Amino acid sequence: MAIKTKENHLKFNTKWEYASAPESKDHIELKDQYELFIGGEFVKPKKGKYFPTINPATGKKIASIAEASQEDVDKAVKAARTAYDKYWSKMPAKERAKYIYRIARMLQERAREFAVIETMDGGKAIRESKSVDIPLAAAHFFYYAGWADKLDYAFPNRNPKPLGVAGQVIPWNFPLLMAAWKIAPALATGNTVVLKPAETTSLTALKLAELIQEAGLPPGVVNIVTGAGATGAAIVNHPDINKIAFTGSTNVGKIIQKAIAGTDKKATLELGGKAANIILEDATIDQAVEGIINGIYFNQGHVCCAGSRLFVQESVEDIVIKKLKARMETLIIGDPLDKNTDIGAINSSEQLKTIKKYIKIGKTEADFYESSCPIPSNGGFWCKPTLFTNTSQSHRIVQEEIFGPVLAVQSFRTIEEVLEKANNTYYGLSAGVWTDKGSKIFRMTSKLRAGVIWANTYNKFDPTSPFGGFKESGFGREGGLHGLAPYLKLN
Ligand code: NAP
Ligand code: MG
Repeated sequence: MAIKTKENHLKFNTKWEYASAPESKDHIELKDQYELFIGGEFVKPKKGKYFPTINPATGKKIASIAEASQEDVDKAVKAARTAYDKYWSKMPAKERAKYIYRIARMLQERAREFAVIETMDGGKAIRESKSVDIPLAAAHFFYYAGWADKLDYAFPNRNPKPLGVAGQVIPWNFPLLMAAWKIAPALATGNTVVLKPAETTSLTALKLAELIQEAGLPPGVVNIVTGAGATGAAIVNHPDINKIAFTGSTNVGKIIQKAIAGTDKKATLELGGKAANIILEDATIDQAVEGIINGIYFNQGHVCCAGSRLFVQESVEDIVIKKLKARMETLIIGDPLDKNTDIGAINSSEQLKTIKKYIKIGKTEADFYESSCPIPSNGGFWCKPTLFTNTSQSHRIVQEEIFGPVLAVQSFRTIEEVLEKANNTYYGLSAGVWTDKGSKIFRMTSKLRAGVIWANTYNKFDPTSPFGGFKESGFGREGGLHGLAPYLKLN
């Protein structure tokens, strides 16, 4: 390992240069072309259309993906309905559980393969796909498999019954994990599924389809249809779907809510966020700085619950910002397949454009700082970790979701002031509080209008814990016992 002791501008941090340590791609198998997974088989799209999926770290095409038309979606819904009527709703719950356990175990066994594909297709650092995305996806299948034959205990005297066919549409920031969040509870409760992954990250969902086929699930219990927004809309508008589970932007969430108004479709919407990460003066500063870094730069800031608004109590503002900048200097951006990489590639050129647009706006609103770390110049999509100080509530970079590694900082004097500022947003997905005092944690978490609140940590997930939003961050909960109810008829 080559070590370069170059002092950064703050003199209390040393920059380390590591030899490259790329994860091997030898063990993965990718095809040139992927079809739709309908009725337990891989079938060609009716209109014969395909679109490319690219590696955002190189800008190069990985494979062609089938584009599902309305007719293909119709075929998938029919397959899901038949599977529901013929097999899945009739199968004893403990048998259903066995299939879900099998998916969980197979996913665990093939974790490395899934992690590498997730990183190649979506741009996230391999460290994250290996230690967060894939293990958590498997954990969701394990967790919900356990509930499948215990629904009467989960909802005593409420006679839980499945809804039928669930239509599920997911985003690109946690492709396999979002698929697991959706598919695992749906199957455990006895529903069948038609799922659409995001256009830029279909590969791990299609790999999951291969795994599901291998696991021997009855044909049609899970159907995966790939495509763009129109494919998602065809699912949402399909008359024979009983439940819509959507994770994505607030804008599309609103379109979906309008589309299903007046129908008897049930819905869960997990939408955008603009979380407040609040550092009080009695917090352990070094720990909080790590939490800030993890809160906003983790996964290139492509996290709905990212701590994108930082509130620091005035008396510790200088030291927090100083330490934060020093830590930002040590972050490594680059090849997402390299095990040393902290920040991978931005998911798409479109998303990079959006982030750059907001950075430009931010420069007119507040003081700008970015890490001086080098970024590759290879046709991939890259963005340095960015910080705006002296921001105020009215700034667009404070109000609007950027979905990139861009942090907006404000200071505050009192707890009342920060609670008011933190809650002054259309969103309400998550928040963080850093303090030494348990009493302040209880006081603040009960007043913050957010679905998930972390205390002295950030961006931690667990299948047993419900997740979901307030206000324009959506409604319904996924995860935990709460995540079962939206897939059930209850008396
Ligand atoms: P998006 O544009 O809303 O897309 C989400 C999914 O919906 C994609 O599969 C998309 O297909 C599809 N879609 C697009 N238009 C549609 C329509 N009219 N009807 C039905 N489906 C449609 O969001 P995104 O940019 O992929 O993801 C980022 C957003 O997701 C952020 O706002 C983030 O906060 C949110 N998010 C929320 C959570 C949460 O749990 N609350 C978790 C993760 C992400 P295409 O891929 O072809 O566009
Ligand atoms: Mg891709």
